Amino acid sequence: MNLIQFLALFGLFVAGMAIACPFARFVPLLPEALIEVTCGMAAVLFFGWAVYRRCGWMARAPRCPKCGSAERAYSVIPSGPDGIKLECQTCKQVLMLQSESAVVLGDHGEEVGHLRLRWPKILGWWKADRPFEIKATD
Ligand SMILES: [Zn+2]
Repeated sequence: MNLIQFLALFGLFVAGMAIACPFARFVPLLPEALIEVTCGMAAVLFFGWAVYRRCGWMARAPRCPKCGSAERAYSVIPSGPDGIKLECQTCKQVLMLQSESAVVLGDHGEEVGHLRLRWPKILGWWKADRPFEIKATD
């Protein structure tokens, strides 16, 4: 997440708080500040991805499915309009990153597995559609 993305999400958070402000005093038993912060967080979770899509931003790349590299250190490989090709700098596994999904590619460019963004998508949590195995090359 860069500064522009952070500021956009913070603006969404403040907008959610501002919308909740006039109504928070009518909710019994809960402090107004708690309701306002909750509405701000809900605004970010529910509308953050729409802002991301509108601005053409992508979610954080998934962990490498082969080596599990936590650094998410990828090199960008020039590719066509299908998406962005990323190569893991540790194990050279290639992913085709699209807006809400990522295709795990094998040694010969075949599809080995498929990852999909889970809700809330702005957090960049990825999950495999079904279990898959990446064969080691020798
Ligand atoms: Zn890797």
